[in-house]
Amino acid sequence: MALYVIALKQHVGAPCAPIVKIGDELKRGQCIAEPNGLGAKIHTSVSGKVIKITEQAIEIEADNTDTKDYIKIKKCDSIAETAFEAGIVGAGGAGFPTHIKLKAEIPDGYIIANCVECEPVLNHNIKLLEQNPEVVIKGVRYAMEATKAPKGYIAIKSKNKKAIDSLKKALGEAKDVEVKELRDMYPMGEERAIIHEIFNNWLTPNQLPIEAKCVVMNGETLANLTKAVEDLKPVIDKDITVAGKLKNGRDSNTFFQVPIGTPIKNLIEECGGIDGEYGEVVIGGPYTGKSGDIDKSVVTKISGGAIVTMPLPEFEGPIGLLVCACGADEARLRDIAGKMKSEVVGVTKCKNIEEIRGANKCLTPGDCPGQVQGIMYLKSQGAKRVLVSNCSDCTNTVMCCAPKMGLPVYHHTDHVFRTVDHELTRRLPMEDQK
Ligand code: SF4
Repeated sequence: MALYVIALKQHVGAPCAPIVKIGDELKRGQCIAEPNGLGAKIHTSVSGKVIKITEQAIEIEADNTDTKDYIKIKKCDSIAETAFEAGIVGAGGAGFPTHIKLKAEIPDGYIIANCVECEPVLNHNIKLLEQNPEVVIKGVRYAMEATKAPKGYIAIKSKNKKAIDSLKKALGEAKDVEVKELRDMYPMGEERAIIHEIFNNWLTPNQLPIEAKCVVMNGETLANLTKAVEDLKPVIDKDITVAGKLKNGRDSNTFFQVPIGTPIKNLIEECGGIDGEYGEVVIGGPYTGKSGDIDKSVVTKISGGAIVTMPLPEFEGPIGLLVCACGADEARLRDIAGKMKSEVVGVTKCKNIEEIRGANKCLTPGDCPGQVQGIMYLKSQGAKRVLVSNCSDCTNTVMCCAPKMGLPVYHHTDHVFRTVDHELTRRLPMEDQK
């Protein structure tokens, strides 16, 4: 019997409260947990029996009926209420409850579909647009209807030509929704960066998109909205990318509509299993993902990917850390430095970071203020190398100063990108420099 572990926290806010008990027989799509304040309903992705309930998860032994059918959510009077019943949250990783975003009223505003898929290696959002652009376009229009926004934009990197072509073909002569092509830089998918690219307006880290009359929603989230409105389907399946050191090859593998709670290990096995010695299983993308436990990681509503990496490089010496607000945080950089067997002698933050309620926020994501001071500080602390998590633009400026100071540079994405033969985050091509 297959075991599915459905996490009780798959969103911002507190974990949901279970509404089932051990021994209950469930049908796929049935609601099993409800939010405690901010959050979203959770439904089972499989039919079967509840065998364990902990503070973190509900464990279900599937009855192997392997059906695509599900218990439908109730019909609602509004699109926002439908999103609530379906348990829709930001599928791009943020996990913010969608029904709250849809309660905004922006009669002179915009819905922005975030189809930037900013994390390299992950490709399931772009593949969805290539194969089924309508499901996302309809989601944009449902979100426009809910918020009364007269205009929608689909933000996508211009390098994704096939997806752009399929979107434009599906949109035809329509003027209410428009494709906006963006540059290929990290973190172009940050919502304030998208709003800046479209409207040339930087919101402060304290401001929400609504202050620019915008509601920004991930492409897969919008697809989930379409499925909830048209098919009364709760969020029980997830698109996800699996890549890395796998026996079937290093290319990205796209899995569409995997039942939530599926062990990541099973998906890796479907790709032939891990190919020899490995370093980490990164859950998420190269920039913001974290090292996961292969025996415990499961698919959630916000899972972006699983990447099996090569072993990390080793440097048994003093290293300095330069932290970015949009890439790896200090804890993740320390985790990587530890795996490299390095001794952390100094930590500093990008000077574009403002601390707001204990969290690092970037003033202008992806727009570098210069990193010389930070690198000089790390050298003064005795660092012989630096490990950075900066955005594309800032890493470019690190590369303009650190090597001149005799400090070799590691980027926290290096071992991921080396695994899949992706270009490392270093100097930007001249045409991308401002
Ligand atoms: S400007 Fe600094 S904090 Fe902002 S994205 Fe770039 S490195 Fe990160």
